[in-house]
This record gives sequence, C-alpha cells and structure tokens, in this order.
Amino acid sequence: MPSPSNHFVPKSRPHPVRSQLTIAFAALVVLALASATFADTHYYHHVFFDNSLAPDNYFYSSGTQTSPSTLVLLNDRLPVERDVVHTPPNALRIEWNSKQEGNWTAEVHVKHFRNREHEFEGSTLTFWLYSPEAIAAADLPLVRIADTDDGFSKPIPLATLIHGIPAKKWTRVDILLTQFTAASIRKLDPHRLQALVLSQGTSDNAPHTLILDDIQINSPTETKTPLAPIAPPQQVSAKGFERHVDVAWNATESASLQHYVIYRSLDGNHYDPVGIQEPGIHRYADYLGKVGVNASYKVAAQSWDGRTSAMSAAANAATHAMTDDELLTMLQEECFHYYWDQAGPKSGMSRENIPGNDRIVATGASGFGIMALITGVDRGFVTRDEGRERLEKIVTFLEKAPRYHGAWSHFMNDQTAATLPVFGMFDDGGDLVETAFLMQGLLVARQYYSHADAPEQALHARISKLWETVEWDWYQRTPQSDALFWHWSPDWNWQINHRLTGFNEIMITYLLAVASPTHSVAPGLYYTGWTDNAANNPKNDFLDGHTYFGIKLDVATKYGNPLFFTHYSYMAFDPRGLHDKYVDYFENNRNLALINRAWCIENPEKHKGYGPDSWGLTASDGPEGYVPNAPDKDDDVGTMTPTGALSSFPYTPDFSMLAFKHFYRDLGDRLWGAYGPRDAFNMDQNWFAPIYMGLNQAPIVVMTENYRTGLIWKLFMSNPEIQPMLTKIGFQPVPDTTAPAPTSPQK
Ligand code: CA
Repeated sequence: MPSPSNHFVPKSRPHPVRSQLTIAFAALVVLALASATFADTHYYHHVFFDNSLAPDNYFYSSGTQTSPSTLVLLNDRLPVERDVVHTPPNALRIEWNSKQEGNWTAEVHVKHFRNREHEFEGSTLTFWLYSPEAIAAADLPLVRIADTDDGFSKPIPLATLIHGIPAKKWTRVDILLTQFTAASIRKLDPHRLQALVLSQGTSDNAPHTLILDDIQINSPTETKTPLAPIAPPQQVSAKGFERHVDVAWNATESASLQHYVIYRSLDGNHYDPVGIQEPGIHRYADYLGKVGVNASYKVAAQSWDGRTSAMSAAANAATHAMTDDELLTMLQEECFHYYWDQAGPKSGMSRENIPGNDRIVATGASGFGIMALITGVDRGFVTRDEGRERLEKIVTFLEKAPRYHGAWSHFMNDQTAATLPVFGMFDDGGDLVETAFLMQGLLVARQYYSHADAPEQALHARISKLWETVEWDWYQRTPQSDALFWHWSPDWNWQINHRLTGFNEIMITYLLAVASPTHSVAPGLYYTGWTDNAANNPKNDFLDGHTYFGIKLDVATKYGNPLFFTHYSYMAFDPRGLHDKYVDYFENNRNLALINRAWCIENPEKHKGYGPDSWGLTASDGPEGYVPNAPDKDDDVGTMTPTGALSSFPYTPDFSMLAFKHFYRDLGDRLWGAYGPRDAFNMDQNWFAPIYMGLNQAPIVVMTENYRTGLIWKLFMSNPEIQPMLTKIGFQPVPDTTAPAPTSPQK
C-alpha cells in the first residue's frame, strides 16, 4: 500500500548463510527454472546492464574527471551510444584522455527497482568492449567493483586481462569474481554488485573511446553443459497503432534463453536489430513516432552462451491514423496485457511490479487486475471462457491461501500461497484494505459471470463463498471501537495499530464492511471511522473546506492528495449522484484531479516536463523508489505518473485525453512499452521507470472503461448487497449536480 503507515516497519534482509553444496544445488535449480516461470528474477540475477531507456545519458551511472584528465559526461552521467551496440538499442560511451596528475572515473550502477533481489549468481563478471580505433593493452583503464554495502575492490588493470582492444571489433572481458579483493574496510561481496568502475590507468595523453555493453555475472561452466539448440520464436505477429507497432510471439520455453532480439525492416529485405526483450515478456512495442510507416518484424531467441536462433517468420504492420475512441481501446488493451500475460503462473494473481520479484503476487492489485480482466473480456481482448478460466484459477488460489479471519495478506507467494511480509516482520497477517480492493474486483466478476450455465453459476457461488467468509467485524477489534483496523496478525495481534480513517484510498473497506451479508459492521462505523467522526471531532483528518486554484475542496487530508485516493475505491463503487452526510465524492474527486492539474500547470517547484498536458501526481515508482507523489511542496519531487491523469478519465475526460496524447505522442519513444505507459518518469533527472506496477496499470483500464461505458461501476452496483448498504449509511441522491457543492456542518 502506498499509505505511509506501511513504511514504518524497518526492513531487515538477513544475508543467508549457505553452504557450498547449497550454492551448487541452487545453480542447478536456477537453470532448471529459467523458463518463463521465474524469467524476470532469473534475468536480473545475471544482467547488470543491457540498455538505457533514455537515449542520451544513462540514469544509473556517474563519472568524475580531475584536471588535466578528461572524461566526457552528459549532465554528470555517462553518455548513451546508439550507433555501435552489442545488444540493441544502445550501449554506454566512455571517452577519456588520461594525463599525468589527473584522473577520471566512469561508474555504471545497478538498476534499482522495487523488490529486486540484489543477488547476482555466477562466478564471473563479463562485459563487452568496442573501440573505433585499436587501444593498446597498456593504455586501457583500471577496473574496480563496489557492492551494495559499501565494500569496494582493489583495481585490476584491464591490461592484465586482455591483449588490447582491436579496432571495430567487440571484445569480451571475463573476470573471475575471486580476482577481486577488498580494498575497503568492509568485506566485499561481488554477488551484491552495486557498481562497475573504470578509471584512469596509464597517462598516455591521448583521446580514447570505449563502447561498453552487456555487463553480467554468470557462470561460464554452467553454460558449458550441453544445452538444447535454441528454437526461433513462433507465432510472431505485428499490430500497427498510431505511432507504434506491437510485436508479439509465443514464449520460448528454454532454460538457455537469455533474451529475445527484435528485428525490423522498413524495406522488407534488410532487417536491423532494434531491441531486446527479457525472457519473461513476449511482446515488444516498437515506437516509430509517426503514422504511415510500413514495417516488418522478425524475432530471434538468444541463449546465455551467446547462441542466437534462426530468425522467426516475418510479420508486417503499418502505423495509421486512429480516432480518439480507438486510441482509448489501444490504451486499455496494452495495460490489460500486464495482468493477462504476466499473472502469477500458479495463482493467476497480479504481480506487484514487472520486472520485479516473480514470487510476489499482490492482493489489492489482483482485485484491480480482475476488473481489468472483466473489461478485457467485454471488449473482446480475450474470450468470455478464457476470462472465466483465469478467474477460476484465481479463486482456487484464494480458497487455499492463508486467511486471517477471512482477510488475505497483502502479498503472497505465487507458487505456495504463503504470506510474504514484504513490508517487514509485523506485516505477516491479514490486510483488510488489500482484501477490500480484492473483493471489489471479485464482486464485479461475480455479477459479470452470472449466466445460467453451470460453469458460470459455479464460479458465481465460489466468489459468494469468499465474500461471505471475510470477517469484516473482526477487524473492528472490539465492539467499543469506533473504526476498523488495517492489519491483524496471529503473531503480533494489533501491533501495527493502524486505525482506518479518511480521506484517502480506503473508503471501499467501510462500504464492504457495512454491506457484508455475514460479518457486517454497524453503518455508524462508516461515519466514526471513515469520516473520522468529523461532525464531533474538530481535529478530524477528513474535512478540508479550503479553496485551491479557485477550486473548492470538501474533503482531503491536506493541501492536495495523490490521485490514487480518487481511484482505488471508485473503480468499482460508482460515486456519481450520491452524497453522504458530508460530500459528493464524484465532485470531490473531480476537484482533486483539477487541483492536481492546476498545481502541475503552476508548477511551483519548477520541475521539468509539467504542463497542461503533463499532470497527475500520484503514488508510483520514482528515481528514489516508491513514493506517494502529491501536489504539495513536500510530495512533489518531479516524478510524473501516467496513471494519475489516465485513471481520472471519468472526472476530467478532456484533460486526461490531452495527457494521454502527450504521454503517447511526445514521450512514446521512452515511455511506451509492452504494457502501455511505463510507471513514471522524472524529467529533472532524465529518468524513466524500468517497471510497470500492478496498482497503476489496471486503474487506467478500469477507469477508462467507466468513462466510456460505466461497465465496472454498473456491475459492482448491481450486487444485491450494495443498494441496502447505501440506504443503511444514508447516502442520498445529489439533488442537482449543477448546484454548488454542499457545505459541510464544519464550515
Ligand atoms: Ca545494449
């Protein structure tokens, strides 16, 4: 959850002590599991650098130069090389002149992303070097490594490893990890590699250039074992959109698969490699940037030991003009694929982020993914039966997964359903908010799959059983308590002690707790809990009443809010035309979106890349990790999150469309990938998220659908428990939606 409450548990990550026997066994297991099942985690246990998302400089790098020596840097980072590459589309450029009394360093850092396991597996550090002109061994730089715990090595002269660099030929450098010895006061662990550092060697007072690509840790001895010949990918297809072509193929189930190579031809004859794709993903977005481009594609598979398969058969497509309506379908379909293609293979549940940790599936994101699935079925992206089969898999998993008085934990192991305490040792029990996010998706699915045939009736009944066995009332903690509590654990009881109040993303938790047919709470809890007893509590955290940028805000927790507050509970619950004792949530959500946009236009923090068509601060990945970005001084760090504006389509359709077109048409070459827009970007730092997130792609699919047809809203509101719940709480129709927002009793 993005709530700060979940960040207070200190992260502890013990170093496993493993015997040599265990390590040897683990290596075999890794090879055996290198198929799609654990493809991403396996890939990032070996690959340190392959390509830069930004085409000019590499975010995860740095450099220094001490006069009179020089090193070419671009905004303090290493420049990206696009003409000469070992893997397309790019490599890193190290261009220096070493002089006496001077020095320089070029550092490549590990790419950070959420839940990445910084544990490289293998015996050997490998990278590839290229130079337009020959470089004598003696004139080559020194190599060092640093680990994630501030350990660093003594320098190794490249001259002791290779006999110089020939002109215009890629040269592989292999360094056994045991060759690195610590120079730091700390122990050095090369398996936790943080940086590869090249620095000045001989002062030859001459300009040199090295192109550096494909930095890995691997075990050449492992890959010397006989490997099956690698087959070319099958069923390659290409589908043209306005500015890009989607290339897709069937997964190659080979333990030796390192990555796919995508080739493009613009004349039908000559094919150039344009990109690679990690083994777990079987789609590639080739951004061409304009309409009317005819292109042909072939895909090859490359193995860890450097063998490339034959190229696949060709697939052709052309970019073409599209209507706004068609563009929206494209947006929904591409984000839908996150959940459809990448669901946990055993559970069918949504992964927390991609790439990420393949074991981890997330409960709330799975509820969102289920609503994206229903949208995808209804739009014909997959068939009704395919959707049902996926839901049956999810329901089977949820029936077996550990439950804590009916609530599921936040994260589970895809293979075993075991609870995964990602947020720390206390987070090992039930998570009521995540359970509510999941349940809203399940209740949407239950209404959709309600045809009279036996399979749909069976699924309907199984979902009802899950719904009826969530003990919402347990999470009230005591009968005297005036609110629900977020977590309960059999080991820690109410240790996390997070009382659920608004205004934030949790409203659906109270709605479902009141609506439950078996374990409901009294409707009054909605007002004492969700609205923080606002009528009797001057210090409530719920009411706002201020005007920002000329826009009145009835409820909010502070100046602005991250936009996920306006999405997560309202993907299923239709707030239109309804008013509780205090507020019309649709109106309030729209105002939050408008304020968010106004902030981005005024841009008081002077961040790059903000404007009328680039707005929508909300929780996302960022250059420094996952944070709840919001329109206030403390929470606006320059990170823009596409889901902010795109999941606001029902509230601000014209402004959301402007943002969509900007993200796609202007930033598509960096932002658009296999699952639609990447999670976030930060123009101040030229950073583009290496990941997509389960919490952020589905709201785009679902809220866009709610804007277009209201489908998900209608399905959820049609559950028989929902209208009685609204009556019990006392929701009233908004008398006149054109009237000014009603004033709360506090103002
Ligand atoms: Ca590359």
